[in-house]
Amino acid sequence: MTRYGSRPRNRVAYGHKDPEVLRSVLYDLWNGRCYWCHRSKDFTDIQTDHIIPKSLRGHNLTNALDRVGRPHSFDRDAPENLAPICGFCNGRGEKGDNDMTHLPTCGRALDKARERAPEVVERVRAFRSQKELAKAFVGLKSADLDDAKIRTAFEQNMPAVLRRLSARGLDDFPLFRVLSIGNRHGELFSVPLELEGESKRAVTLLEGLIYPDYGLADVLDGPLLGLWEQVHTHAHSSFEAFDEDGLGPCNSGPPEASYFRAELQRVSSAKFGNGSIEFTLEGEFEAHLSAGIVRDDPSGWETSTVEGQADGTVEGSYCFTVSWDGGATSDDPVVNWGDEDYWSDI
Ligand SMILES: [Zn+2]
Repeated sequence: MTRYGSRPRNRVAYGHKDPEVLRSVLYDLWNGRCYWCHRSKDFTDIQTDHIIPKSLRGHNLTNALDRVGRPHSFDRDAPENLAPICGFCNGRGEKGDNDMTHLPTCGRALDKARERAPEVVERVRAFRSQKELAKAFVGLKSADLDDAKIRTAFEQNMPAVLRRLSARGLDDFPLFRVLSIGNRHGELFSVPLELEGESKRAVTLLEGLIYPDYGLADVLDGPLLGLWEQVHTHAHSSFEAFDEDGLGPCNSGPPEASYFRAELQRVSSAKFGNGSIEFTLEGEFEAHLSAGIVRDDPSGWETSTVEGQADGTVEGSYCFTVSWDGGATSDDPVVNWGDEDYWSDI
């Protein structure tokens, strides 16, 4: 007798018998975001992606696995290699399946996938005895809210669901918001907010009592732009210092950010005397920047210059305060630089 494959039937992996549940769990655990462009996406726009593509074979595959520090036996269908991707990033070939220049990005995504894998398995398995509930949740997330009839159905039926949850104290959901902040070049970037507990109360106080005439975006505009500037300056000097092969530093043009993501994760408030109050806001950021670089090439008979492009990603956390005593003042963010990766094509 020949056995085809040795996969236990209930193993949580790509090709799982309930792919919708796996997709839904991945979507939740990656915070509703495409792992490639980092944008918040609707569940209906999300697909399950192999971070190290299934199309890679032979030498390309082993080379890629070596470079991201995974064994050649790495199971590409396991949750350690799965992440939610949006239709745009998957469809336009932005994440070129055989393009090795994306490996640093893949490496970071693989680390995140590995971190989340046990929880993915646990959540998918928890639905095993609750198939109807799993189907209902996927249905709710997939419903077309642009359809007026479906919207009406939600309006009519959701209050009863919320009332039921509320009666059991299960309605303390995080506060979700996406703020649009404009930089001085007129580009917009969005700051997703997902706050719970004390943070939720502090934000409600900040926008409800202190800034009733403005949105939260108006309050955070200045400090977050300050953060954006700091990230650019930091990346610029890192590009200039870039010296991968020991041939000397480069001259870099001004970096452009292909994405800049700042998340606001904690907000706390402290009261002071005489009606003044201080808020501390903390979060994390991640940016991908590129710049044109030029440098001397001494390898020929005469020193010439070579031009190319440098790319980099930088992550970190930030913290700033907003104080209010009838008028508001805010500090420039204090930045803690985290992981950084730089690479170039020269
Ligand atoms: Zn995307």
